Amino acid sequence: MTSRRWLSLLTALLVCSLLAVSVSVSLRGVPVAEASQQPSPGNNVPSFDSNRAWEHLRHQVSLGPRPAGSAALNSARRYIIEQLEKAGIQTRQQIFIAHTPLGEMSMGNVIATIPGRRRERIILGSHFDTKRASDFRFVGANDGASSTAVLLELGRVLKPRTHEFTIELLFLDGEEAVNWEWGTTGADNTYGSRHYVDAARKAGTLADIKAFVLLDMVGDRNLVLRRDQQSTRWLVDTIWSAAAMLGHGAVFSNEPTEVEDDHISFLRAGVPSVDLIDLEYPQWHTAQDDLDHVSARSLQVVGDVVVASLPAIAKRAAQP
Ligand SMILES: [Zn+2]
Repeated sequence: MTSRRWLSLLTALLVCSLLAVSVSVSLRGVPVAEASQQPSPGNNVPSFDSNRAWEHLRHQVSLGPRPAGSAALNSARRYIIEQLEKAGIQTRQQIFIAHTPLGEMSMGNVIATIPGRRRERIILGSHFDTKRASDFRFVGANDGASSTAVLLELGRVLKPRTHEFTIELLFLDGEEAVNWEWGTTGADNTYGSRHYVDAARKAGTLADIKAFVLLDMVGDRNLVLRRDQQSTRWLVDTIWSAAAMLGHGAVFSNEPTEVEDDHISFLRAGVPSVDLIDLEYPQWHTAQDDLDHVSARSLQVVGDVVVASLPAIAKRAAQP
């Protein structure tokens, strides 16, 4: 993804240490308070477990760089499918040929379905490919692995619950540009989401997608998610309200940002969409996007907020 706020990056770096202090302070006292604020999911319904999510993150990083078309990304895809099947979730692959600056490339999204009372669906998405870097080893602990890890754990948490809308977990290939520069959104980037939206349009199911919630770079140790101005307002408001209710207002900041990412493919097709992303991550697209710069705690906050938001998203989506 790319940001139009590049010029503000330096400022962001300067305030980063201050934010880190405030975040760590606000999180330090969380476990007891937060436990009482969690919605009671009922007997035998699992809560989001960041230890499990961390293991999913660590495993992806252990596979090494995972750019589109690589053997390591095939391994990551197999791991995603195995984990979903272990949770009893039906999955399918959506293989396609992408036309990239390096020629034709085979890519594959993974689509996992948790049936609801309605066929219409709410999609939770993440890209699982990593940025192609020729002069250093890029393992994407945050950029690629963190959101994919949260999505896998969300599958385990959401599977045993009852849902009004069908929940789809969408693991997207080819979000990253093949060239080093992002370029124009929808040209050399977001291959998986563009293919998915095209396929849904051809299948006549585009109108069944009530909301698309994209997670990307949610593992930063000093996580701050800002309100993306291109995202659909009611979805942003719904998720930020749930975050405030859970006491995570320091992570879900009310500051604006503007990000180009996989949600743009859905927005262009008229699907209400939101991107939960922290692009102000000093290790972004560097060799230091590694296990030292991400935290299980950040995965926990995002997982809890998504789970808490879903009933309100479904309620709004059910309005005529
Ligand atoms: Zn990236």
